[in-house]
Amino acid sequence: MSPQNAVLYFIPTTSPRKENGLLNGEVARGMEPSRPHRERIPAKLVYLRQLEMDTAYITPQRQGESVTTYRRRIYEVLLKLMQAEAQPIGMRVERLWPDTDWDVVWKKLWTTPAPESIKASWYRIIHDIVPTRERLNKIRITLTDQCRSCAEKYTLRHHILECGAGRYQWGWPRQGVALTLMTEPRWVPEEWILRPHFKLWPPKRHRAVLLLLAQFVAFRSQQARELTLQDYQDFLRRSKWKFYQNRNRPTLVGNYLCTLDMI
Ligand SMILES: [Zn+2]
Repeated sequence: MSPQNAVLYFIPTTSPRKENGLLNGEVARGMEPSRPHRERIPAKLVYLRQLEMDTAYITPQRQGESVTTYRRRIYEVLLKLMQAEAQPIGMRVERLWPDTDWDVVWKKLWTTPAPESIKASWYRIIHDIVPTRERLNKIRITLTDQCRSCAEKYTLRHHILECGAGRYQWGWPRQGVALTLMTEPRWVPEEWILRPHFKLWPPKRHRAVLLLLAQFVAFRSQQARELTLQDYQDFLRRSKWKFYQNRNRPTLVGNYLCTLDMI
């Protein structure tokens, strides 16, 4: 038997006896113990042995090599293997939508002149980490992926744009954004809610559009699904009032938010 194919035998440390000329706790190599022992082999050594068989890169434990050194050697080899195979890891949404310029999306998200709570809501929606029934159903937490109130598939889009009065409520920020951009609402894509990778000029107008979208997403992210259009208008009025208390408002959005009074 060559040393490479040698099987490890472990002589347990239960009693201070000497077996096969080896001290207790030593690992013998390439020869059977004189009599089969019944003591359990420590899980750590079983694991190491399995690892050794799995990876041809790691040479077996040397005579007299301590378990710690052996484990360190395994770790170093595995680390080298991982580094050699390492792929650049992207976020889930980045893999789902590879054509989107995600650097722009994250930059725009954090430059939105909104309170942190609103930005955090939008962040969750953009990341698609909301426990929608579609996702819960995929990991077998719910029996169905249908919405409880409208029996449609409960996707992220359904959560934000379609469920309940979502369609009508989306009409408001859409109209506001269209007025800010001096265009028609149909030219304001719904995709901006889930992936705001647009670039507008001047920056004040851009920030005003971001604020309108972020407020809408934060409002729709609330748990209560029976929120009406009136609730949304009240929400807008409150956030606008709060925002107008902000001393930096003129430098952030200028007068672009006055379009809210026109819708
Ligand atoms: Zn629904």
